[in-house]
Amino acid sequence: MAERRSRIVVVGAGISGLAFAFALSQRSSRHDVFVLEGSARAGGNLRTTRKNGFLIDHAGDSWVAAKPAATELSRALGLGDRLVETLPQNRRVYVAQRDGSLVALPDGLILGLPTRVRPLLRTPLLSWRGKLRALLEPLLPIGFGRDPKTGDDEALDAWITRRFGREVEEALAGPLLGGLYTGEVSDLSMLATVPQLAALEKRGGVFFAGRKMSPKGGAVRSSPFIGLAGGIGELVDTLTARLGDRVRYGAHVLRISRREGGREGGREGGGYEVGIDGSEPIAADQVVVTGPAHAAATLLRPHSEPLADELASIVYGSSCTVFLAFPRDAIAHPLDATGYIVPASARTSAMSALASTWVTSKWAGRAPSGMVLLRFFFGSAAMDGDDASLIALARAEAKRVLHVEAAPIVDFVSRFVRASPQPRVGHPAKMARIRELLRGHPGLHLLGSAYDGVGISDCVRQANQLAASL
Ligand SMILES: Cc1cc2nc3c(=O)[nH]c(=O)nc-3n(C[C@H](O)[C@H](O)[C@H](O)COP(=O)(O)OP(=O)(O)OC[C@H]3O[C@@H](n4cnc5c(N)ncnc54)[C@H](O)[C@@H]3O)c2cc1C
Repeated sequence: MAERRSRIVVVGAGISGLAFAFALSQRSSRHDVFVLEGSARAGGNLRTTRKNGFLIDHAGDSWVAAKPAATELSRALGLGDRLVETLPQNRRVYVAQRDGSLVALPDGLILGLPTRVRPLLRTPLLSWRGKLRALLEPLLPIGFGRDPKTGDDEALDAWITRRFGREVEEALAGPLLGGLYTGEVSDLSMLATVPQLAALEKRGGVFFAGRKMSPKGGAVRSSPFIGLAGGIGELVDTLTARLGDRVRYGAHVLRISRREGGREGGREGGGYEVGIDGSEPIAADQVVVTGPAHAAATLLRPHSEPLADELASIVYGSSCTVFLAFPRDAIAHPLDATGYIVPASARTSAMSALASTWVTSKWAGRAPSGMVLLRFFFGSAAMDGDDASLIALARAEAKRVLHVEAAPIVDFVSRFVRASPQPRVGHPAKMARIRELLRGHPGLHLLGSAYDGVGISDCVRQANQLAASL
């Protein structure tokens, strides 16, 4: 007798849903997998637009090189020769000061933490007192300064401060790590964001253990990020091309109901029924819910109130990106970095830019010859305004820091509402509760940036793990 094929329905065609469907289709021919996407396009947060010869990655433009899942996926898709590294001559980051000037971050930082003595001693970003405090790190016992009342997890700022001192937290690591999560380091979970640092503390301190991982001054440094020559959209387009009609667009999932017994739509004895806006429900043996945890909470509430409450309480940040393009000669600055971050102490208002990427200094081939493309990040406080006011804010920032007087030849705005999960202190314990609650609902799965790492490569790794487990 022929083996019955099992049908797996994926909610959402962001990178999590697409990578899962591709991994499953590669691993097993016993499953039929369908991806239901509510909007008219795949990719979710990942999107690339071409405008007047400029290549614009709306949000993420790359993944962390040290997390290989997205690189491996790209290779499996035949995109190996499309993988690109950041331009080697510009692999530095500036920190904006309150007066608009830029100071380079010192060499040898790991996630914003110093691991080399000489660059640390030379940086003007710390006082002598701050430098000496940072140099004490390798001498501090494990758990030094730790509040005995804290549980296993602790806030990122508390950890950085007790190991490296307040100045390193405020001037180096805090702005860098906070920027990565569109959040405040005072709220973020140490264990959920940078568990490798907690592990290094236990192995004799971060300073010397970390330096093995950090670049040596003067040597050619490997690229910290990997992107694609045609922008991040190339990954999405290739995945959707490979999945073909297994991806359905305009299929917004309204509900997922449990089917008890019976035999419907070829599904025997249980499974789920996935209700789609404006069309017939689809029977599924298993359902993989991707996308933001707040959206998953809505779909899973009828199954478990406690599970939905846990999901809904994962905090999300909103942000937007504004792109401005100028002729190269409109900017005197050498633009010899991937961009700059703006620590809280350098922000002049709640609507100040949080960071800027100099896209054409970071990547080759993103603009017509003689042009530069700049990207400015803003937080939720700036997002109440319309596009024109956001462009005005970005132009004011370009003038303040780079002294650009010219009008941009291209502008472009992209908004990401409640799109960036911010794993708070206690996130690992929350995840343990979520996994336990999910155990009561066999065949229901969660994937996405809210759970076990927020980046593109984290999503791909989790998608691969789930596909392997099925
Ligand atoms: C501004 C910004 C910058 C970023 N930069 C980087 C970076 O440089 N590097 C990096 O690694 N990561 C970056 N990230 C994080 C990265 O983009 C995310 O980790 C990743 O895109 C999450 O993918 P996902 O598939 O889990 O979710 P999403 O991208 O949110 O996709 C979910 C999809 O599900 C669909 N959907 C939701 N609900 C339903 C429903 N009920 N029915 C049907 N469809 C539904 C949505 O329409 C969407 O297409 C950035 C994120 C943001 C917001």
